[in-house]
Amino acid sequence: MNKSALCWIDGEIMPAVDARISVFDHGLLYGDGVFEGLRFYHRRVFREQAHLQRLQQSAAAIGLELPCDAPELSAAIAALIEGFEHADGYLRLVVTRGPGSLGIDPRSCTKPVVFIIADELRVMDVSDPRQGVSLHVASVRRMPASCLDPRIKSLNYLNNILARIEANRAGADEALMLNLDGNISEGSVDNLFIASAGRLMTPPPSDGLLAGITRDVVIEVARERGIDCSEVSLRLDALYAADECFLTGTGAELIPVRRVGEHEFRAPRNPVTPDIMRAFRERIDLECASG
Ligand code: PMP
Repeated sequence: MNKSALCWIDGEIMPAVDARISVFDHGLLYGDGVFEGLRFYHRRVFREQAHLQRLQQSAAAIGLELPCDAPELSAAIAALIEGFEHADGYLRLVVTRGPGSLGIDPRSCTKPVVFIIADELRVMDVSDPRQGVSLHVASVRRMPASCLDPRIKSLNYLNNILARIEANRAGADEALMLNLDGNISEGSVDNLFIASAGRLMTPPPSDGLLAGITRDVVIEVARERGIDCSEVSLRLDALYAADECFLTGTGAELIPVRRVGEHEFRAPRNPVTPDIMRAFRERIDLECASG
């Protein structure tokens, strides 16, 4: 917990450590709710509309009616960023089903709760992300859409947490999750790309992953630069045969993967990852630079 973190809740902004929600909140009791993680640079949110749209889709998918619309959420975010100590940071926007009875039935919850935390960024806990992270292929599989659609960014992250616990035990920085068919799905909190002979590939959302907003930006900048980028199902052998691999996410931005299990990636002669990382950074500066 960071003392400088701020929280917007019920129209008020306060130190996040002082913000309170009910112990009867179904977000807490059952993971019944949705959220977004956003990032701001120079006090401007990167791809805010895409995040708000995904929040609305997630909420609609679980039958949760948002108590505020996108312009109201935008205004709350702007006020929070304005009051935050730093010009760059991370936002966690959470909508819970709200307080209700101790039964699971969401009908007992009459008023959803919205809160937004602004905090400093906590990137993946590695000493130097540019050196690349290590992945552990988790035995726990990504939840199939028929059980809980991974495209819904819900408060229920236990599937991912179990994978991350395995990675922690294996001494790796992040977990790599496969779907029930054995296709690569995603990391516990990020999407995965591989590059082979200068061509990028990433699994399609139908392989059970959250359609990351950073993933979309990477596909966009790659195509703009004439780098072939396809959404295809990938099996582990394609990953091991790849020249390069990186993860994408709001927190992670783009992080190269150095190793998967015992397999080390050898730097190819003409890597595409640094080029994509540069293009990504330029895109952030273009959309968020002040002035
Ligand atoms: N997959 C999962 C499971 C995630 O939690 C995240 C982080 N939101 C991502 C992928 C990356 O998505 P984004 O680029 O929108 O942050």
